Amino acid sequence: MTVKTILTEPNKLLRQISQPIDNVGENEQKLMDDMIETMYAANGIGLAAIQIGFPKRIIVMDISKDQTNKNPLYFVNPIILNKAAEQSTYEEGCLSVPNQFAEIDRPNKCEIEYLDYNGEKKLLKAEGLLATCIQHEIDHLEGILFIDYLSKLKKSIIIKKLSKQKKKPDRIVV
Ligand code: ZN
Repeated sequence: MTVKTILTEPNKLLRQISQPIDNVGENEQKLMDDMIETMYAANGIGLAAIQIGFPKRIIVMDISKDQTNKNPLYFVNPIILNKAAEQSTYEEGCLSVPNQFAEIDRPNKCEIEYLDYNGEKKLLKAEGLLATCIQHEIDHLEGILFIDYLSKLKKSIIIKKLSKQKKKPDRIVV
């Protein structure tokens, strides 16, 4: 398992639409292993393949926040079958939008169909944090980031900040 570099906004790759997987084989499982390792190393609770540069419809998640009792989840080709009309609000962040947070409303429940780590078809009824996290990650597969739900002004302020951070030279102490 390898910890990969996570792409950050602004980056055109993050805006790409990810492609479905035909078959879950060794290569896909290796990618999922790298993704989960990368996500844990960055202290995230979800990661889409495109965030490490692979435009594939694969998501990994672990919302247990429990170092000793990890609960990794793998979703290949996830499709939202239905969403609740009722919304919930979480303050969201994203490993590809470092140090920026905003309150986002999303349907509070959703049902998804996907293939698991072994390529088996599964159904999941998600609610609460799990539902929000899945919707955030599926957005990544469509090239959508949570900041896209903000006003134009708020979004442009965040993108400016991120661009500035990127241009800063590395700080070294010698
Ligand atoms: Zn994200």
